[in-house]
Amino acid sequence: MTTIPVLKVLIVGNGTVGKTSLVRRFCEGSFTSSRVATIGVDFQTKLVNLPSGQVKLSIWDLAGQERFAVMRPGFYKGGRSAALIFDVTEPQTLEDLPRWREELLGVIPTVPSVVIGNKVDLERKLDPEKGRAYAESIGAVYVETSAATGVGVEQFFDTLARLAYGVPIARGPGLPPTARTSPAGPD
Ligand code: GDP
Ligand code: MG
Repeated sequence: MTTIPVLKVLIVGNGTVGKTSLVRRFCEGSFTSSRVATIGVDFQTKLVNLPSGQVKLSIWDLAGQERFAVMRPGFYKGGRSAALIFDVTEPQTLEDLPRWREELLGVIPTVPSVVIGNKVDLERKLDPEKGRAYAESIGAVYVETSAATGVGVEQFFDTLARLAYGVPIARGPGLPPTARTSPAGPD
């Protein structure tokens, strides 16, 4: 019997950007428009197929509210990759991503990350180039998603799993030029 590697991945971003909805869409294939805010941390696992074999993602969905800030660093420990999530209908949520990144890097200085622009099913208030530019500036992959329609969700978690496992990201049209896959990556 082979042992399936368990990879801890972190989901961060302001409250209401859709973190819990994205995890739920990926793990359960469902979406509900009314959601109870995450208290502290939500936790789910899911098997993912990578070219090298199966891995089990342990997905830590952390509450974005300020009052949980004191708990978060403890939860970051052991994270292999991280998703920085913003909402394309709320420009402030992208402005706040550098703070999330700093908080993460304070605990896990070399964690590779993916930047996610969520809620693309709604009328956007942010140019996709803004999200892409931020992702490029930190050497991260940029993916746009909707937890409501499911668009981009597989690509998001596949990227997160590959980063966690250290597998290079296959580049396709429209993807930024580099994905940081090792501590020696750019920045
Ligand atoms: P979290 O605080 O980041 O975990 O955000 P939630 O997952 O709780 O979502 C906050 C609200 O946004 C809920 O009402 C969700 O139904 C809604 N929501 C999340 N993702 C999407 C999306 O992709 N499209 C739309 N239209 N609504 C979304
Ligand atoms: Mg939540």
